[in-house]
Amino acid sequence: MPKKYGKALYTCRICGRTGGVIRKYGLMYCRQCMREVAKKIGFKKYN
Ligand SMILES: [Zn+2]
Repeated sequence: MPKKYGKALYTCRICGRTGGVIRKYGLMYCRQCMREVAKKIGFKKYN
């Protein structure tokens, strides 16, 4: 049984990063991926 959890409650859905994951809007992406996603969905906020 792999230890997939522990300290990290949330992981980025794209890269699996555990630090700086943004749960806002229920998206759960890290800041880096958030920027990519933001571009796609038209968020100007994170550019
Ligand atoms: Zn990410």
